Amino acid sequence: MSKSLKIGGVVVAILATLVLWLWLGGDGVKKTARLKAVEVIGNLAMRTIPDDVAGGFHKIPIERKELAPGVYQATGVANTHLITTDDGDVLFDTGLALQVPQQMELLKEVSDGPLTHIIVSHSHADHMGGTKFWKEDGTEIVAHREYTEEQRYLKELEPYLHHRNRTLFPWMPEEPPQIGLIAYGGVEPTITVGDDDLIFEQGGVRFEVLNTPGAEGADNISLWLPQKKILFTGDTLGPLFPQFPNIFTMRGEKVRKPVEYIATLNRLIELDIEMLVPSHHTPVTGVENIRAALTKIRDATKYVHDETVRGMNEGRSVHELMEEIQLPPELELTQEHGRVSWAVRSIWEYYATWFHFDSITELYPVPARSMYAELAELAGPEALVAKAKEHADAGEPVRALHLLEVAVAGDPDNAPALRLRLTTLEAMLQTAIDGVGNNYEKDYLRQQIALTREALGQGS
Ligand SMILES: [Zn+2]
Repeated sequence: MSKSLKIGGVVVAILATLVLWLWLGGDGVKKTARLKAVEVIGNLAMRTIPDDVAGGFHKIPIERKELAPGVYQATGVANTHLITTDDGDVLFDTGLALQVPQQMELLKEVSDGPLTHIIVSHSHADHMGGTKFWKEDGTEIVAHREYTEEQRYLKELEPYLHHRNRTLFPWMPEEPPQIGLIAYGGVEPTITVGDDDLIFEQGGVRFEVLNTPGAEGADNISLWLPQKKILFTGDTLGPLFPQFPNIFTMRGEKVRKPVEYIATLNRLIELDIEMLVPSHHTPVTGVENIRAALTKIRDATKYVHDETVRGMNEGRSVHELMEEIQLPPELELTQEHGRVSWAVRSIWEYYATWFHFDSITELYPVPARSMYAELAELAGPEALVAKAKEHADAGEPVRALHLLEVAVAGDPDNAPALRLRLTTLEAMLQTAIDGVGNNYEKDYLRQQIALTREALGQGS
């Protein structure tokens, strides 16, 4: 972790304590004061993070855009959308809690109508974070029927998931905020969407909330405005469009179901979408262009799914399939968010779970790693580092890393092993940048490089 990230974390922790005090102040503390405090923390948190981490989401300015008459977007780490009608307004996604004050201010400027519905695309913190701030008396909260279960497990595993999340999204505070409105969770849907879509008309505008699970969780919904031919997708299509889906997330979460996702894409391909509005980054326009991209995502997902299933039935190992299955040129898509080889493994484990039938030892809580120190003693540190160097020089960095992990298990201060580990990781980072460019792989490699430097006493 770099120094600036550490400082950022400390600043956020101090401010979080101040805000806690504000909240404990009880009802006497006005909502505007609470919003102001959150805004201060949010700005500081974003400013302390370098530009080039986590795909640069945190550097996206908070601005208001009018996407179509009566359809507004407040940008940020995640976008919030307000659709205004003569009979009240509808909100789609509520952004990251730390950015709510500014997004809310911008959107409130265009309408003072009552908020009849908040539609939450799914349970991720960057899409539901402002729900408790926005909710008025009588506002319906619309979410997928799986939302409550997804929110439950994400909340219950928050201490575990937060630290994994933070490795990849370093603007997050050191500990998960547990304070009032900015704490994760607590959103209670009043209308759920599942087998049936939710269709309603308000102020002459038709709203269709579609059941579109499988992409970034079991609880994804999208909003279709058929008169305007605008589709709001939340994360149903991920942060980039088009992209290979993130069936597996390195942040740690339940597996996302590929066949359900293919069904979702089939639904969306049927619509004549003139403007596609994801909750990250900018809208995409053009019916044919959008349909072609959706078809490609569907076909690429299906290809990887079908090839994995075929390989499993042919008795191929998960590692062979991770190595072999690649998108054919006509289905080539960016893997910045979702990586094909990780999708292969996720599909495998989704169907067959973690026992791969490779070794009886898989069944017991004694991993190969627990024997590394003994192996290091038997092989000797010099021999391990020399062999690792051969692999690194032969362009096999992961083989080199395996041997170096054995060497370091034998002696955590083994400087030659740590130095070779550092140059190997740096080479892997370059390969990742020049190759599929997966953001999570790059960020995790960067974190490992920083830790190795720390172990070598080089700081970062
Ligand atoms: Zn998101």
